[in-house]
Amino acid sequence: MKEYQVCNRCIMDTSDSEITFDEYGVCNHCRNFDENIRPRWFPNEQGQQMLLSIVEKIKQENKNNDYDCIIGLSGGVDSSFLAYKAVQMGLRLLAVHVDAGWNSEIAVRNIENICKKLNIDLYTHVVDWEEVAEVQRAFLLSGVANQDTPQDHAFFAGLYNYAVKNNVKYVLSGLNFATEGILPASWGYMAMDLKQVEGIYDRFGRKPLKTFPKVSLFKYLVYYPYIKGMKVIAPLNYMPYDKDEAIKIMAKEFSWQYYGGKHFESRFTKFFQAYYLPAKFGYDKRRAHLSSLIVSGQLTRQEALIEIEKELYPIEQLQEDKEYVLKKLDLTTQEFDEIMKSPNKTFRDYPSNHYLLEKLRTIRGLLKK
Ligand SMILES: [Zn+2]
Repeated sequence: MKEYQVCNRCIMDTSDSEITFDEYGVCNHCRNFDENIRPRWFPNEQGQQMLLSIVEKIKQENKNNDYDCIIGLSGGVDSSFLAYKAVQMGLRLLAVHVDAGWNSEIAVRNIENICKKLNIDLYTHVVDWEEVAEVQRAFLLSGVANQDTPQDHAFFAGLYNYAVKNNVKYVLSGLNFATEGILPASWGYMAMDLKQVEGIYDRFGRKPLKTFPKVSLFKYLVYYPYIKGMKVIAPLNYMPYDKDEAIKIMAKEFSWQYYGGKHFESRFTKFFQAYYLPAKFGYDKRRAHLSSLIVSGQLTRQEALIEIEKELYPIEQLQEDKEYVLKKLDLTTQEFDEIMKSPNKTFRDYPSNHYLLEKLRTIRGLLKK
């Protein structure tokens, strides 16, 4: 067992089993941010210029099409603010909302308000609820950490498949270094690895999946980008992006409402991030999120240390959400307690394309040299 240690610059700690510290007590995530992320992050004048030329290119290429780009809307802060900014820049958006059955009312209202106020066409893809629940149930029974995989896979598969089907080449992504620069690899696993989704489902699923949105790794890494020319752009990395500021602007512009926590727009994600992960694995995702805000200069380390001490889940609310989630996923309290007590599993305990992905990464690394 490693001795407990917290980074001197951010608040990442040894709950990330792969964390390393240098002689100043600064962690590998901080160093990675400085060396690999900061050079690709432009929250300044230069970014504005870069974004302007990207937007011009997109408009030019799509002048004969109905839409310039597609955007996945979850009702959360990042995608909502991105939609607002994209419309301001004159992009004609097609919004896709993939409804996997866990939307909070606030999230749904946010999406409606954004699309109405900004005059964006919205397509809502409702995933067959029985199937989502079955995949999520299988993942819980598998005992892995990455319980967000079923929802994430369905979101991205639904979005990408719809984009390709409608010949929209550009996908706007709310990914951003300002709030997501730090996320330890050891805490999760890539949601786009269909082999993992199907491997776990084969083992624990109870009925065939007929319509659950899927994207194979080949489609995702080769067919979509190289054959269909799909490009994913993350505009929030080319502008200053302050979450509190964004929330204020959106509240004023289209009555956008906050739901009280990163990714808490889904009731399952809330339960998973605020209870399952910390209680079973000791991962508190707030730590990575707050650390991201520290390295991007939006929060002091002192403020983050105060924030992380706050209660993660008020007990009555936890009880209520737990009952709700288990009922929806057809699990008894006993079955769930058994899952929480069973030995923790990792993605390595089930089929995956991890080996292939590592190989690809090495090849890509070599090609860059
Ligand atoms: Zn650090």
